[in-house]
Amino acid sequence: METKTSAKSAQRSSQVRISRSPAAALESSESNPWLQAMEQLNRAGAKMKMEENILERLRHCKRILTVSVPVTMDDGTLKVFEGYRIQHNLDRGPAKGGIRYHPQVSLDEVKALSFWMTMKCAVVNLPYGGAKGGVICDPSKMSIGEIERLTRRYTSEISIIIGPDKDIPAPDVNTNEQIMSWVMDTYSMTIGYSCPGVVTGKPIDVGGSLGRREATGRGVFYVTRELADVKGFDLTKSTVAIQGFGNVGSNAAKVFYEHGSKVVGVSDVTGGVWDPKGLPIPEIIDYVARQGSLAGYPGGKRIPGNEFVEVPCDILVPAAMENQITHENAGRVKAKYIVEGANGPTTNAADRILNERGVVVVPDILANAGGVTVSYFEWVQDIQAYFWSEKDINARLQEIMVRAFRDVWDMAQKEKVDLRLAAFMVGLNRLAKAVRLRGRFP
Ligand code: NAD
Repeated sequence: METKTSAKSAQRSSQVRISRSPAAALESSESNPWLQAMEQLNRAGAKMKMEENILERLRHCKRILTVSVPVTMDDGTLKVFEGYRIQHNLDRGPAKGGIRYHPQVSLDEVKALSFWMTMKCAVVNLPYGGAKGGVICDPSKMSIGEIERLTRRYTSEISIIIGPDKDIPAPDVNTNEQIMSWVMDTYSMTIGYSCPGVVTGKPIDVGGSLGRREATGRGVFYVTRELADVKGFDLTKSTVAIQGFGNVGSNAAKVFYEHGSKVVGVSDVTGGVWDPKGLPIPEIIDYVARQGSLAGYPGGKRIPGNEFVEVPCDILVPAAMENQITHENAGRVKAKYIVEGANGPTTNAADRILNERGVVVVPDILANAGGVTVSYFEWVQDIQAYFWSEKDINARLQEIMVRAFRDVWDMAQKEKVDLRLAAFMVGLNRLAKAVRLRGRFP
C-alpha cells in the first residue's frame, strides 16, 4: 500500500495549522517527526539544487505495511495491537532498520525513522536502503510471555516483506537481543530452515556479532573524538551528560567513562542524576541491571526528566527519544556540543536556535550510525557463516565512523553549512547517484 502523503500535502497540512496560530503550528510540526524529516530533505535538496524528480521520490515511502497483531494475554483475553513495517527506499540495497515497541509509536514516526535510515546508510556508505518497524504497545506493562507472543505474531505478519535479501530488522527502543532471537526463530520456522541473516542484533549464540551490543554507543564516542580533534578540545578534560540509559545511552556512557571523560549526568524515563565531580558509570550500569531503572539511585543530584538536557556539561548526548530539544528549551541548553545518539532528538526549530548560539550538533544520521554499521557486519558474517573477532569489528567500525565524520566535516567546511545539512548533502549525493543509475521502472 503506497502512502498518499506528499511533501505538498504535508506542507498544506502545516499551512492549515499556521493559519490557526504560528506558535501552535510550530509546536504541532515539531512534534511530527515526518514533517521535520521532510523539512530536512527539502533544505538539503534546495542547497544542492537536486533534481525535483529525485526529491519527490524520497518524499514517499516505497512500502507501508500496517498489520494488526492479535495476542492472547496472560489472563486469557485477546488484545489486538497495531504494528507497522515501512520500507522508505531500496535504491542502494535491501532495507535496514529497527523495530520499536512503544505506546507513542505512530505511522508518521515510523515513516520518519525509515527515511532517516535511508539517509544514515548512505552517509556511512552501507549498501542498504532504509526501513523501520514499530508496534503500539507498552512492554513495561506486559509479561515476557505476552511480549514473545506479540513479537512472533508481528514477525509472522511482516514476514511477507522481510528477508535477508529484502529487509533486515534490528533492535530499537524497547526491543533487545532476546526479541531479535524470536524474530529470527519465527521467520526460520515459517520458511523451514534457520535464517540468521533475516535480523541483526541477535545473541551471539544464534548468529549475532561480537561488538553489536556496544556498537551505537561506541560509534557515538568515535565521532565525538573526531569532533574533539577538529575543534581542538580534549575529551579527557570534557564533561558529558547522556539522556537515556538503554542500549545506546548506557554503552555511550561506558565508552566515554573508559576513555577518561567525566560523565556528569545520566537519565532515563524515570528522571536524571547529575554530579559535577563525575558519576561512577560501571556502578550505575550494575544498579540499573539490578533495579530495572535509575529510580532511587542514591548518588548525585536528582534532575527532573524534562530539565535534563539543560544540565551543565560540555557534551550532551541525547540517547532516548525524538523531540527532546525543541524551540522551547534550546535556548537553555548549556552544552557546547550535542552528539545525537537518538534519532530525531533535536527539532529543526531548535537546530536554528542552537546554530545561532554556536552550539555544534553532530546529527543522528552520522552520530548513531555505529549500530547499523555493526548490524551490517553481523549480516555479512551470517551470510558467509564466518565470524570475525571483536578487535576486527571495532577496528572496522572505527574506520567507517571516522571516514563518515571526515566526509561530513569536509562538506560542512566546503559549503559553509552546519553538520546536519552537510550530512544530508553527503547522503543525498550518494543516494541520488543510485537513483539516477537505476532509472525509473517501467
Ligand atoms: P532502549 O529501549 O534500549 O533505551 C531507551 C532509554 O531511553 C531507556 O533508558 C529509557 O528509560 C529512556 N527514555 C525513554 N524515554 C525517555 C525520556 N522521555 N527521557 C529520558 N529517557 C527516556 O533504546 P535504545 O536502543 O537505546 O534507543 C535509544 C535511541 O537511540 C532511539 O532514538 C533509537 O532510535 C536510537 N538508536 C538506537 C540504536 C540501537 O542500536 N539500539 C541505533 C541507532 C539509534
